[in-house]
Amino acid sequence: MGEVKKEDILDILAKYDKSEITIATLGSHTSLHILQGAKEEGFRTAIVCQKGREIPYQRFGVADEYIIVDEFKDIVNEDVQQKLRDMNAIVVPHGSFVAYAGLDNVEDKFNVPMFGNRDVLRWEAERDKERALLVEGDVRIPFKYDSPDQIDRPVMVKFPGARGGRGYFVASSPEEFDAKIEAMKARGWLEDSDVEAAHIEEYVSGCNYCIHYFYSALDDTVELMGMDTRYESSIDGFVRMPAKDQLDIDLSPSYVVTGNHPAVIRESLLPQVFDIADKLTESAKKLVAPGLNGPFCMQTLVNDNLEVICFEISARTDGGTNTFMDGSPYSYLTYGKPMSMGRRIALEIKRGIERDELEKIIT
Ligand code: ADP
Repeated sequence: MGEVKKEDILDILAKYDKSEITIATLGSHTSLHILQGAKEEGFRTAIVCQKGREIPYQRFGVADEYIIVDEFKDIVNEDVQQKLRDMNAIVVPHGSFVAYAGLDNVEDKFNVPMFGNRDVLRWEAERDKERALLVEGDVRIPFKYDSPDQIDRPVMVKFPGARGGRGYFVASSPEEFDAKIEAMKARGWLEDSDVEAAHIEEYVSGCNYCIHYFYSALDDTVELMGMDTRYESSIDGFVRMPAKDQLDIDLSPSYVVTGNHPAVIRESLLPQVFDIADKLTESAKKLVAPGLNGPFCMQTLVNDNLEVICFEISARTDGGTNTFMDGSPYSYLTYGKPMSMGRRIALEIKRGIERDELEKIIT
């Protein structure tokens, strides 16, 4: 639990003019639809942008106000926080916001009202906590190996921290594990300390669906907002090579996300899609109250037994929400009009203001 107390944030919020709220975020990741969605719901918008990175926001015209900083991490500087408070800003966190601001700063010194549950961000960032949420909810996850000696089938080997899949590898035996660790070290992608923290799990040969949900704390409902799959280098380039040429490449492929494709899932899998999200929402309420307020994502693999297996979660807007800036087939079913994740966040804030219940969705 950090130094930023919910009561203090609510005091700041109490002084805000609720008819002049600005929705603000850091210019990166999913900020385009966060700001566009806010405008569609009638809010003013502001972007905190690293010098030289303004172009997309200017070209698309999504920001009313610009706070230009030397580096992204300056969003936690006191003068920037003051500017945000002066414009009655509610900040919407996303993956890059957390990465650049730093979790410790978000918990200890970012005294600006934020949408969602600030405390849950650490739970998605630390693999043990993330796993605890899934285990508590009894969500199907990849089987975990306690030691490389136990490897008896293909496994996926991962390392601490979100690195966009860089340095992850597949191995089928303890010998192959050791050889690949040495190769990764030679490539400069791993330190000895990383190796001790290697996380080894069942390799799920399945199709990837990253499923985006919105949990409304105001209505206690879980909405399915959209789905995407990842476009990853070098693996997606690698598999386009003839198999015999793949064998000549001695480097393991990596899984660095470079983009996303929109996706839909077989309709018969939708009961599982809702079930895993309901379970995760309930376990988050228990372990990190008040839970997963707002957007979250479950990254899954669907195997040929048609099991939806979750290997990772995000407890804020995930990058794959960029595939449905004008709505997805699923958000269309619920809303019948374009509903991006950003717009859904703004709608929740609008409802929070109208019902005088902002304290339920702001920390
Ligand atoms: P990061 O969070 O660092 O981006 P992920 O955990 O999302 O890394 O994993 C990167 C990629 O690795 C995924 O998109 C998926 O393609 C693949 N992957 C992850 N876990 C497994 C697994 N257990 N079995 C098969 N593939 C996996």
